[in-house]
Amino acid sequence: MAHNRYRVLLESLDVDILDYIFQILRPARGLRSLSSTCRGLRTLSMPVLFKSCVVDVSRPITISHFLPSSLWPFVSSLHIVDKCSDIRAMRFQDDLHYTADPLMCGVLDGAFLKDALREMPRLRSVHVGFIWREDHGLGWSVIDAILSVSQIREFTIRSYLFCPREAPARRVVPLNPSAHLTTFNYARYASRSQLHADVQRAALGVVIGSLRSSLEHLRLPSDLSPISTFRSLSWTRLRELRLDGTYPSNIDAPLLDIISGMPRLRSLALLFALPRDMEKRPLWPPRCTLHFPFPELEELVVSYPDPEDYLYSHLPPSLRRLSFRCCPHHCLHVWEPACCMRWHSPILPASDLLRILSSIKAPVLQHLQLEYVADHADAALLGSIAASFPRLSSLEIHRFRQVDNSNVSIVRTSCPQ
Ligand SMILES: [Zn+2]
Repeated sequence: MAHNRYRVLLESLDVDILDYIFQILRPARGLRSLSSTCRGLRTLSMPVLFKSCVVDVSRPITISHFLPSSLWPFVSSLHIVDKCSDIRAMRFQDDLHYTADPLMCGVLDGAFLKDALREMPRLRSVHVGFIWREDHGLGWSVIDAILSVSQIREFTIRSYLFCPREAPARRVVPLNPSAHLTTFNYARYASRSQLHADVQRAALGVVIGSLRSSLEHLRLPSDLSPISTFRSLSWTRLRELRLDGTYPSNIDAPLLDIISGMPRLRSLALLFALPRDMEKRPLWPPRCTLHFPFPELEELVVSYPDPEDYLYSHLPPSLRRLSFRCCPHHCLHVWEPACCMRWHSPILPASDLLRILSSIKAPVLQHLQLEYVADHADAALLGSIAASFPRLSSLEIHRFRQVDNSNVSIVRTSCPQ
Protein backbone atom coordinates (compact mmCIF):
# COMPACT_ATOMS: atom_id res chain seq x y z
CA MET A 1 0.00 0.00 0.00
CA ALA A 2 2.78 2.40 0.89
CA HIS A 3 4.30 1.74 -2.49
CA ASN A 4 1.07 2.70 -4.32
CA ARG A 5 0.63 5.88 -2.23
CA TYR A 6 3.88 7.33 -3.62
CA ARG A 7 3.49 6.01 -7.12
CA VAL A 8 3.85 8.78 -9.72
CA LEU A 9 2.33 8.45 -13.14
CA LEU A 10 4.68 9.57 -15.92
CA GLU A 11 1.82 11.46 -17.53
CA SER A 12 1.30 13.53 -14.38
CA LEU A 13 4.78 15.06 -14.61
CA ASP A 14 5.21 18.60 -15.89
CA VAL A 15 5.69 18.87 -19.63
CA ASP A 16 9.19 20.29 -19.11
CA ILE A 17 10.23 17.26 -17.04
CA LEU A 18 8.72 14.85 -19.53
CA ASP A 19 10.45 16.63 -22.39
CA TYR A 20 13.76 16.33 -20.52
CA ILE A 21 13.21 12.58 -20.04
CA PHE A 22 12.29 12.16 -23.71
CA GLN A 23 15.42 14.04 -24.80
CA ILE A 24 17.61 11.72 -22.69
CA LEU A 25 15.95 8.59 -24.06
CA ARG A 26 15.95 9.56 -27.74
CA PRO A 27 19.64 9.11 -28.70
CA ALA A 28 19.66 5.51 -27.46
CA ARG A 29 16.36 4.74 -29.22
CA GLY A 30 14.70 4.20 -25.85
CA LEU A 31 12.06 6.79 -26.63
CA ARG A 32 10.58 4.67 -29.41
CA SER A 33 9.88 1.85 -26.94
CA LEU A 34 8.46 4.21 -24.31
CA SER A 35 6.21 5.92 -26.84
CA SER A 36 4.72 2.54 -27.77
CA THR A 37 3.46 1.82 -24.26
CA CYS A 38 0.31 3.94 -24.33
CA ARG A 39 -1.55 6.53 -26.40
CA GLY A 40 -0.92 9.33 -23.90
CA LEU A 41 2.84 8.97 -23.89
CA ARG A 42 2.84 8.57 -27.65
CA THR A 43 1.08 11.90 -28.04
CA LEU A 44 3.34 13.69 -25.56
CA SER A 45 6.54 12.31 -27.09
CA MET A 46 5.75 13.11 -30.74
CA PRO A 47 7.57 16.50 -30.83
CA VAL A 48 10.77 14.85 -29.58
CA LEU A 49 10.37 11.56 -31.45
CA PHE A 50 9.99 13.30 -34.81
CA LYS A 51 12.05 16.40 -34.11
CA SER A 52 14.65 15.37 -36.69
CA CYS A 53 13.52 13.40 -39.75
CA VAL A 54 15.40 11.93 -42.72
CA VAL A 55 13.53 11.42 -45.98
CA ASP A 56 15.11 9.30 -48.73
CA VAL A 57 13.82 10.40 -52.14
CA SER A 58 14.21 7.94 -55.01
CA ARG A 59 11.25 8.97 -57.21
CA PRO A 60 9.40 12.24 -57.86
CA ILE A 61 8.39 13.73 -54.55
CA THR A 62 4.64 13.72 -53.88
CA ILE A 63 2.38 13.53 -50.85
CA SER A 64 2.56 9.71 -50.99
CA HIS A 65 6.36 9.67 -51.42
CA PHE A 66 7.27 11.99 -48.60
CA LEU A 67 7.03 12.25 -44.85
CA PRO A 68 3.42 11.50 -43.69
CA SER A 69 1.59 14.78 -43.23
CA SER A 70 0.53 13.73 -39.70
CA LEU A 71 4.18 14.21 -38.65
CA TRP A 72 4.71 17.64 -40.21
CA PRO A 73 3.67 19.60 -37.08
CA PHE A 74 6.55 18.05 -35.10
CA VAL A 75 9.50 18.34 -37.48
CA SER A 76 12.23 20.78 -36.49
CA SER A 77 15.09 19.45 -38.62
CA LEU A 78 14.46 17.89 -42.04
CA HIS A 79 17.09 15.99 -44.06
CA ILE A 80 16.16 15.22 -47.65
CA VAL A 81 18.52 12.64 -49.17
CA ASP A 82 18.38 12.41 -52.97
CA LYS A 83 18.67 8.80 -54.13
CA CYS A 84 17.24 9.20 -57.62
CA SER A 85 18.60 6.90 -60.30
CA ASP A 86 19.49 9.85 -62.54
CA ILE A 87 22.38 10.85 -60.28
CA ARG A 88 24.70 8.42 -62.03
CA ALA A 89 23.55 9.22 -65.54
CA MET A 90 26.48 11.58 -66.14
CA ARG A 91 29.00 8.84 -65.38
CA PHE A 92 27.45 5.75 -66.95
CA GLN A 93 25.50 7.31 -69.85
CA ASP A 94 22.33 5.60 -68.62
CA ASP A 95 18.83 6.57 -69.69
CA LEU A 96 17.30 9.36 -67.63
CA HIS A 97 14.09 8.51 -65.79
CA TYR A 98 12.87 11.67 -64.13
CA THR A 99 14.49 14.56 -66.00
CA ALA A 100 15.40 15.55 -69.53
CA ASP A 101 18.53 17.31 -68.33
CA PRO A 102 21.37 15.19 -66.87
CA LEU A 103 22.56 18.21 -64.86
CA MET A 104 19.27 18.88 -63.08
CA CYS A 105 17.51 16.69 -60.54
CA GLY A 106 13.97 15.78 -61.56
CA VAL A 107 12.63 14.26 -58.36
CA LEU A 108 12.61 17.31 -56.07
CA ASP A 109 9.55 19.42 -56.76
CA GLY A 110 9.77 23.07 -55.68
CA ALA A 111 6.01 23.65 -55.67
CA PHE A 112 5.36 20.61 -53.49
CA LEU A 113 8.16 21.47 -51.08
CA LYS A 114 6.97 25.05 -50.75
CA ASP A 115 3.51 23.90 -49.64
CA ALA A 116 4.73 21.04 -47.45
CA LEU A 117 7.43 22.95 -45.57
CA ARG A 118 5.05 25.79 -44.80
CA GLU A 119 2.89 23.24 -42.95
CA MET A 120 5.77 22.48 -40.57
CA PRO A 121 5.52 25.26 -37.93
CA ARG A 122 8.50 24.00 -35.89
CA LEU A 123 10.82 23.67 -38.89
CA ARG A 124 14.16 25.45 -38.34
CA SER A 125 16.71 23.48 -40.34
CA VAL A 126 16.59 21.98 -43.85
CA HIS A 127 19.32 19.84 -45.40
CA VAL A 128 19.23 18.62 -49.02
CA GLY A 129 21.95 16.53 -50.60
CA PHE A 130 23.22 13.21 -51.82
CA ILE A 131 26.19 11.07 -50.95
CA TRP A 132 28.01 10.55 -54.26
CA ARG A 133 30.30 12.87 -56.21
CA GLU A 134 28.27 12.96 -59.41
CA ASP A 135 27.48 16.18 -61.30
CA HIS A 136 23.83 16.50 -60.31
CA GLY A 137 22.14 19.87 -60.03
CA LEU A 138 19.60 21.47 -57.73
CA GLY A 139 17.08 23.60 -59.59
CA TRP A 140 16.28 27.21 -58.81
CA SER A 141 12.63 26.44 -58.00
CA VAL A 142 13.70 24.11 -55.16
CA ILE A 143 16.06 26.67 -53.66
CA ASP A 144 13.42 29.37 -53.98
CA ALA A 145 10.81 27.12 -52.35
CA ILE A 146 12.98 26.40 -49.31
CA LEU A 147 14.08 30.00 -48.90
CA SER A 148 10.47 31.17 -49.01
CA VAL A 149 9.58 29.30 -45.81
CA SER A 150 9.85 32.04 -43.23
CA GLN A 151 10.37 29.87 -40.12
CA ILE A 152 13.58 28.26 -41.44
CA ARG A 153 16.85 29.52 -39.96
CA GLU A 154 19.40 27.00 -41.30
CA PHE A 155 19.75 25.73 -44.85
CA THR A 156 22.39 23.23 -46.01
CA ILE A 157 22.98 22.06 -49.57
CA ARG A 158 25.42 19.19 -50.02
CA SER A 159 26.99 17.72 -53.18
CA TYR A 160 24.64 19.31 -55.73
CA LEU A 161 25.71 21.62 -58.51
CA PHE A 162 24.13 24.96 -57.73
CA CYS A 163 21.55 25.93 -60.42
CA PRO A 164 23.88 24.86 -63.27
CA ARG A 165 21.41 25.85 -66.02
CA GLU A 166 19.63 28.83 -64.52
CA ALA A 167 21.54 32.06 -64.19
CA PRO A 168 19.38 34.40 -62.14
CA ALA A 169 20.73 37.42 -64.00
CA ARG A 170 18.81 36.26 -67.07
CA ARG A 171 15.43 36.02 -65.41
CA VAL A 172 13.28 37.50 -62.72
CA VAL A 173 14.64 36.19 -59.44
CA PRO A 174 11.73 34.92 -57.37
CA LEU A 175 13.41 34.98 -53.97
CA ASN A 176 11.14 35.73 -51.07
CA PRO A 177 12.63 38.55 -48.99
CA SER A 178 10.94 37.19 -45.84
CA ALA A 179 13.47 34.36 -45.54
CA HIS A 180 15.61 35.15 -42.48
CA LEU A 181 18.33 32.52 -42.50
CA THR A 182 21.07 32.78 -39.93
CA THR A 183 23.05 29.83 -41.33
CA PHE A 184 23.70 28.92 -44.94
CA ASN A 185 25.98 25.99 -45.75
CA TYR A 186 26.87 24.87 -49.23
CA ALA A 187 29.31 21.96 -49.23
CA ARG A 188 30.59 20.22 -52.33
CA TYR A 189 33.68 18.37 -53.40
CA ALA A 190 35.78 20.45 -55.78
CA SER A 191 34.53 19.42 -59.21
CA ARG A 192 36.99 18.40 -61.86
CA SER A 193 34.78 19.65 -64.63
CA GLN A 194 33.73 23.04 -63.23
CA LEU A 195 30.49 22.72 -65.19
CA HIS A 196 28.92 26.12 -65.73
CA ALA A 197 30.89 27.57 -62.85
CA ASP A 198 30.03 31.14 -63.87
CA VAL A 199 26.30 30.39 -63.72
CA GLN A 200 26.61 28.62 -60.40
CA ARG A 201 28.65 31.49 -58.98
CA ALA A 202 26.06 34.05 -60.14
CA ALA A 203 23.18 32.06 -58.62
CA LEU A 204 25.05 31.66 -55.35
CA GLY A 205 25.74 35.40 -55.30
CA VAL A 206 22.03 36.17 -55.64
CA VAL A 207 21.11 33.80 -52.79
CA ILE A 208 23.66 34.89 -50.22
CA GLY A 209 23.27 38.54 -51.27
CA SER A 210 19.56 38.37 -50.48
CA LEU A 211 20.32 36.80 -47.08
CA ARG A 212 23.18 39.06 -46.01
CA SER A 213 21.21 41.13 -43.48
CA SER A 214 20.36 38.04 -41.38
CA LEU A 215 23.26 35.65 -42.03
CA GLU A 216 25.50 34.84 -39.07
CA HIS A 217 27.21 31.66 -40.33
CA LEU A 218 28.26 31.08 -43.94
CA ARG A 219 30.13 28.16 -45.47
CA LEU A 220 30.84 27.95 -49.21
CA PRO A 221 33.07 26.08 -51.68
CA SER A 222 35.79 28.61 -52.42
CA ASP A 223 35.97 27.91 -56.17
CA LEU A 224 32.34 29.03 -56.52
CA SER A 225 32.46 31.89 -54.04
CA PRO A 226 30.80 35.00 -55.48
CA ILE A 227 33.70 37.37 -54.97
CA SER A 228 31.90 40.42 -56.35
CA THR A 229 29.05 39.85 -53.87
CA PHE A 230 31.47 39.61 -50.96
CA ARG A 231 33.20 42.80 -52.01
CA SER A 232 30.19 44.96 -52.84
CA LEU A 233 27.96 44.28 -49.83
CA SER A 234 28.14 44.79 -46.07
CA TRP A 235 27.70 41.72 -43.85
CA THR A 236 26.83 43.32 -40.55
CA ARG A 237 25.70 40.19 -38.66
CA LEU A 238 28.13 37.62 -40.06
CA ARG A 239 30.16 35.97 -37.30
CA GLU A 240 31.53 32.91 -39.08
CA LEU A 241 32.91 32.51 -42.62
CA ARG A 242 34.37 29.26 -43.93
CA LEU A 243 35.65 28.81 -47.48
CA ASP A 244 36.77 25.30 -48.56
CA GLY A 245 38.30 24.17 -51.82
CA THR A 246 40.82 25.81 -54.12
CA TYR A 247 41.98 29.40 -53.98
CA PRO A 248 39.19 31.60 -55.48
CA SER A 249 39.85 32.25 -59.15
CA ASN A 250 39.98 35.59 -60.95
CA ILE A 251 40.49 37.85 -57.96
CA ASP A 252 42.42 41.07 -58.48
CA ALA A 253 42.80 42.22 -54.86
CA PRO A 254 44.02 40.76 -51.56
CA LEU A 255 41.45 38.29 -50.26
CA LEU A 256 41.50 40.00 -46.88
CA ASP A 257 40.37 43.22 -48.54
CA ILE A 258 37.63 41.46 -50.50
CA ILE A 259 36.01 40.06 -47.34
CA SER A 260 36.59 43.16 -45.24
CA GLY A 261 32.89 44.11 -45.02
CA MET A 262 32.30 41.70 -42.12
CA PRO A 263 33.05 43.77 -39.02
CA ARG A 264 31.60 41.26 -36.50
CA LEU A 265 33.43 38.21 -37.80
CA ARG A 266 34.63 35.93 -34.99
CA SER A 267 35.58 32.79 -36.89
CA LEU A 268 37.40 32.72 -40.22
CA ALA A 269 38.47 29.50 -41.95
CA LEU A 270 40.24 29.64 -45.32
CA LEU A 271 41.04 26.05 -46.26
CA PHE A 272 42.43 26.16 -49.78
CA ALA A 273 43.97 23.16 -51.50
CA LEU A 274 46.64 24.07 -54.05
CA PRO A 275 46.44 22.71 -57.61
CA ARG A 276 49.87 21.72 -58.89
CA ASP A 277 50.08 24.82 -61.11
CA MET A 278 49.20 27.25 -58.30
CA GLU A 279 51.47 28.71 -55.63
CA LYS A 280 50.19 29.83 -52.24
CA ARG A 281 49.34 33.50 -51.92
CA PRO A 282 49.47 35.81 -48.89
CA LEU A 283 46.11 36.99 -47.62
CA TRP A 284 47.67 40.36 -46.81
CA PRO A 285 50.57 40.87 -49.24
CA PRO A 286 53.71 42.59 -47.88
CA ARG A 287 53.74 46.39 -48.16
CA CYS A 288 50.04 46.44 -49.10
CA THR A 289 48.14 49.14 -47.21
CA LEU A 290 45.14 47.59 -45.47
CA HIS A 291 43.37 47.81 -42.14
CA PHE A 292 42.70 44.60 -40.23
CA PRO A 293 38.91 44.27 -40.63
CA PHE A 294 37.95 41.82 -37.86
CA PRO A 295 38.54 43.36 -34.39
CA GLU A 296 36.51 40.62 -32.64
CA LEU A 297 38.19 37.64 -34.34
CA GLU A 298 38.47 34.62 -32.01
CA GLU A 299 39.23 31.75 -34.41
CA LEU A 300 41.47 31.60 -37.48
CA VAL A 301 42.13 28.56 -39.68
CA VAL A 302 44.54 29.01 -42.60
CA SER A 303 46.06 26.43 -44.94
CA TYR A 304 49.68 26.84 -46.04
CA PRO A 305 50.42 30.11 -44.22
CA ASP A 306 53.01 32.38 -45.84
CA PRO A 307 55.74 33.74 -43.51
CA GLU A 308 55.76 36.97 -45.60
CA ASP A 309 52.04 37.51 -44.98
CA TYR A 310 51.32 40.71 -43.03
CA LEU A 311 48.14 39.20 -41.61
CA TYR A 312 49.76 37.44 -38.67
CA SER A 313 51.38 40.50 -37.12
CA HIS A 314 47.98 42.27 -37.18
CA LEU A 315 45.85 39.61 -35.49
CA PRO A 316 43.79 41.01 -32.59
CA PRO A 317 44.40 40.06 -28.92
CA SER A 318 40.94 38.43 -28.83
CA LEU A 319 42.24 35.37 -30.74
CA ARG A 320 41.49 32.09 -28.89
CA ARG A 321 41.89 29.37 -31.54
CA LEU A 322 44.53 29.23 -34.28
CA SER A 323 45.18 26.54 -36.87
CA PHE A 324 47.92 26.38 -39.49
CA ARG A 325 47.47 23.21 -41.49
CA CYS A 326 47.78 21.58 -44.88
CA CYS A 327 44.74 20.96 -47.07
CA PRO A 328 44.26 18.07 -47.30
CA HIS A 329 46.44 17.01 -44.37
CA HIS A 330 50.02 16.33 -45.45
CA CYS A 331 49.86 12.72 -44.29
CA LEU A 332 47.48 11.97 -47.16
CA HIS A 333 50.14 13.14 -49.64
CA VAL A 334 52.62 10.80 -47.96
CA TRP A 335 50.39 7.77 -47.41
CA GLU A 336 47.83 8.04 -50.22
CA PRO A 337 49.54 9.98 -53.04
CA ALA A 338 47.13 8.60 -55.64
CA CYS A 339 44.28 10.42 -53.86
CA CYS A 340 46.10 13.75 -54.00
CA MET A 341 47.40 13.82 -57.57
CA ARG A 342 45.62 17.10 -58.34
CA TRP A 343 47.24 18.93 -55.44
CA HIS A 344 50.68 19.72 -54.10
CA SER A 345 51.45 20.27 -50.45
CA PRO A 346 54.03 22.98 -49.73
CA ILE A 347 54.18 22.18 -46.04
CA LEU A 348 56.11 24.71 -43.98
CA PRO A 349 59.47 23.95 -42.37
CA ALA A 350 59.72 24.59 -38.64
CA SER A 351 61.88 27.68 -39.21
CA ASP A 352 59.19 29.42 -41.31
CA LEU A 353 56.49 28.47 -38.83
CA LEU A 354 58.62 29.91 -36.02
CA ARG A 355 58.81 33.22 -37.91
CA ILE A 356 55.02 33.34 -38.17
CA LEU A 357 54.36 32.43 -34.54
CA SER A 358 56.94 34.97 -33.37
CA SER A 359 54.97 37.75 -35.05
CA ILE A 360 51.67 36.85 -33.36
CA LYS A 361 50.51 38.52 -30.15
CA ALA A 362 47.67 36.38 -28.81
CA PRO A 363 47.73 36.48 -25.00
CA VAL A 364 44.49 34.50 -24.52
CA LEU A 365 45.10 31.84 -27.17
CA GLN A 366 43.69 28.52 -25.92
CA HIS A 367 44.02 26.13 -28.88
CA LEU A 368 46.84 25.81 -31.41
CA GLN A 369 47.12 23.38 -34.34
CA LEU A 370 50.37 23.16 -36.34
CA GLU A 371 51.49 21.04 -39.29
CA TYR A 372 55.15 21.28 -40.38
CA VAL A 373 58.37 19.53 -41.35
CA ALA A 374 61.14 19.47 -38.74
CA ASP A 375 64.36 21.34 -39.51
CA HIS A 376 67.11 23.09 -37.52
CA ALA A 377 64.48 25.29 -35.79
CA ASP A 378 62.42 22.38 -34.48
CA ALA A 379 63.46 22.72 -30.84
CA ALA A 380 63.17 26.52 -30.92
CA LEU A 381 59.66 26.28 -32.36
CA LEU A 382 58.44 23.90 -29.67
CA GLY A 383 60.13 25.94 -26.98
CA SER A 384 58.53 29.18 -28.14
CA ILE A 385 54.97 27.90 -27.92
CA ALA A 386 54.74 27.82 -24.13
CA ALA A 387 56.46 31.20 -23.82
CA SER A 388 54.33 32.93 -26.46
CA PHE A 389 50.93 31.52 -25.50
CA PRO A 390 50.71 31.13 -21.71
CA ARG A 391 46.94 30.43 -21.72
CA LEU A 392 47.22 27.51 -24.12
CA SER A 393 45.18 24.48 -23.00
CA SER A 394 45.03 22.47 -26.24
CA LEU A 395 47.90 21.78 -28.66
CA GLU A 396 47.71 19.62 -31.79
CA ILE A 397 50.93 19.02 -33.75
CA HIS A 398 51.33 17.17 -37.05
CA ARG A 399 55.14 16.95 -37.27
CA PHE A 400 56.90 15.32 -40.22
CA ARG A 401 60.52 14.31 -40.55
CA GLN A 402 62.47 15.46 -43.58
CA VAL A 403 62.40 12.94 -46.40
CA ASP A 404 66.07 11.97 -46.05
CA ASN A 405 65.92 11.59 -42.26
CA SER A 406 64.84 8.19 -41.00
CA ASN A 407 65.99 8.76 -37.42
CA VAL A 408 63.27 9.23 -34.86
CA SER A 409 64.19 11.13 -31.73
CA ILE A 410 62.70 9.61 -28.59
CA VAL A 411 62.42 11.53 -25.35
CA ARG A 412 62.21 9.33 -22.28
CA THR A 413 60.44 10.53 -19.19
CA SER A 414 59.94 8.92 -15.84
CA CYS A 415 56.75 9.22 -13.84
CA PRO A 416 56.95 9.84 -10.07
CA GLN A 417 56.06 6.76 -8.07
ZN1 LIG B 1 18.11 13.76 -58.01
